Amino acid sequence: MARQVTGPEIERLIQAMAKLPGFGPRSARRAALYLIKNRDKVMGPLAAAIAEAHEKASVCSICGNVDTRDPCTICLDERRDRSIICVVEEVGDLWALERAGALNCLYHVLGGTLSAIGGLRPEDLNISGLVTRAADPQTREILLALNATVEGQTTAHYITERLDGLHVQVSRLAHGVPVGGELDYLDEGTLAAAIKARRPV
Ligand SMILES: [Zn+2]
Repeated sequence: MARQVTGPEIERLIQAMAKLPGFGPRSARRAALYLIKNRDKVMGPLAAAIAEAHEKASVCSICGNVDTRDPCTICLDERRDRSIICVVEEVGDLWALERAGALNCLYHVLGGTLSAIGGLRPEDLNISGLVTRAADPQTREILLALNATVEGQTTAHYITERLDGLHVQVSRLAHGVPVGGELDYLDEGTLAAAIKARRPV
């Protein structure tokens, strides 16, 4: 058994950090040491920010975005074009599209994609909420901004069928999104071009 080199409090910090995406035990140790060395300048403000976000973060009951209020800032923003709802897989995709700045619309976060193998079923995703919103007379376009993966495209197909018969235009992002490309990793220019060149389904 490995010998203990530090107290349980620091060990707990390392273990918690190792659970972060992109972190493993090694990088968690390095980051924890950095925090402790910069206790006042970095660790204090970070701890306060985490505590505050932990207390106030919530999921928007309309669109699924993460914010500190419900409905979220985007859903409450009267300057947005409320006739377009852009559908994304995850909150990270919504934030990426907002960074690209090419859209001024509302959003709908599905919370994943359909997958045949051990994946999510339609009822696991926020699809019925989307159908309800699409049926609202003020909605004119549903823009599917799903990833160019098999799962993303299967989901896009399923949603298009579910919206059949409603008076909305269903469109999807144009080429420019590489196959298997995840929106969150695309640069803003590529995303903006894909949005501008979107086409009807
Ligand atoms: Zn919202």
